[in-house]
Amino acid sequence: MDRRHFLFAAGAFGVAGFAQASESRLGNMLGAARKGAAAASLSDEDVRAYGAQMVTYADAQHRVAPAGNSYAQRLATITRGLEEDNGLRMNYKVYLDPQINAMVTPDGSVRVYSGLLDAFTDDEIRFVMGHEIGHVAHNHTRKRLQTALAASAARDAAASSGSGRVAQLADSQLGGLLERVVAAQHSQGNEREADDYGMQFMARRNYDRKAAVSALDKMAAMGGGGVSWLSTHPDPKRRADRMRKQVG
Ligand SMILES: [Zn+2]
Repeated sequence: MDRRHFLFAAGAFGVAGFAQASESRLGNMLGAARKGAAAASLSDEDVRAYGAQMVTYADAQHRVAPAGNSYAQRLATITRGLEEDNGLRMNYKVYLDPQINAMVTPDGSVRVYSGLLDAFTDDEIRFVMGHEIGHVAHNHTRKRLQTALAASAARDAAASSGSGRVAQLADSQLGGLLERVVAAQHSQGNEREADDYGMQFMARRNYDRKAAVSALDKMAAMGGGGVSWLSTHPDPKRRADRMRKQVG
């Protein structure tokens, strides 16, 4: 897959290599869930705890830019004043990786790939982050997490042992969760909600909303035909046009 093409489509990005081995295992879990196990509802605290496990695992799979690194310094500047958004506590790190990519886990951990920092302006990056935060704010990621965990043996074991609601998941399970919760395609409806949230995020913070348009235009220029997500998701050009109308 051309990495550029799943930037906005997948909702998050570049984690395809996380969990190939655990795919079938998690697939079995999800299959069992569909057969009838209702997804138990997760508290906000549970969602944060699982999200924190996911991002700890993801961080271990990447080269995280140290604080003095120029990419880390730039991201710190871009995200100044963004420690919280609508009640969600945020934290930020750079992955030293040329992919044009970013992701947010359900606990509010934002990870920006250095390739994205190279290719986009500060405000364009803020729109990408706002879009991703939108997937968390609209509970898209929470719903996926609940579905994926509903049939998790690890979680059941923890619950029955009385050791608490939140199980410490194995790396293979965390890799699978990242695939299902962060890297899988969202519906067109979810993508529109995330785009709109990104736009509101820009407006609330007095960032230049035109950056949403230019970010998506750049995506369109980088993209091309023959990409599978284009058949199920609005393409960046159409999304850019939609944002253009909002900017007026
Ligand atoms: Zn998205």
